[in-house]
Amino acid sequence: MKPIIGITASYNHEKNTYFSPGEYIQAVESAGGFPLQLLPLGVDKIAAYLELIDGLLLTGGPDVDPVYYGEDPQPAVEKLSPERDAVEIPLTQKALSTGLPIFAICRGMQVLNVAAGGSIIQDICKNGNVAIKHTQQAPRWHGTHSIQIKEGTVLSEILAEKEIRVNSFHHQALKEIPANCYISAHSQDGIIEGIEFKGLTNVLGVQWHPECMYSTDPHSQKLFSWFVEQAKKPPRG
Ligand code: MN
Repeated sequence: MKPIIGITASYNHEKNTYFSPGEYIQAVESAGGFPLQLLPLGVDKIAAYLELIDGLLLTGGPDVDPVYYGEDPQPAVEKLSPERDAVEIPLTQKALSTGLPIFAICRGMQVLNVAAGGSIIQDICKNGNVAIKHTQQAPRWHGTHSIQIKEGTVLSEILAEKEIRVNSFHHQALKEIPANCYISAHSQDGIIEGIEFKGLTNVLGVQWHPECMYSTDPHSQKLFSWFVEQAKKPPRG
């Protein structure tokens, strides 16, 4: 039996449509997982989702509502998805507390951080003092900026590299991270590009989109293979 990977799905208000970009589904399937979409239908579904899945893939998408980290929205805040926030934040908290493997991508890493008590820079161009373009206009599979990976982290163990090039599609970034969290990678301008949790070797957050680089980039393939392997391990407790 392949490990079941729950993939948080998106909701389009204008079209009243639930959806997932194919890259997440295809990367999980190629890496040997069984992809299952988790629709943002309400907190009453969380227990059933956690019964079903062996790993949680937190996907990219709109900004997290700043109310979840105690702020009002600044003018640069973009689209929000109250449906996704309402499900994904408590789902992540529960997954963290039960030791479920988590791979958190872009918005997913921001959800992971906020769920654990961290906060977000609402717009890195306006209040992050960035020197690098983090909203690339190059193709999605193309890595446009470098990241520096800290030695001794899970990320460093998986990739066996000190520096790699990644794609970049984010106007926000992590601000404060919780005390039980540490930075695994950052860009040259100091933006946090990866986080991990002390004592949880099966939880990984990345600010870039490895699913979009999966077919051409061995590092992205290693990340998804690692995640599916974590989901094959029997649950804790
Ligand atoms: Mn970036």
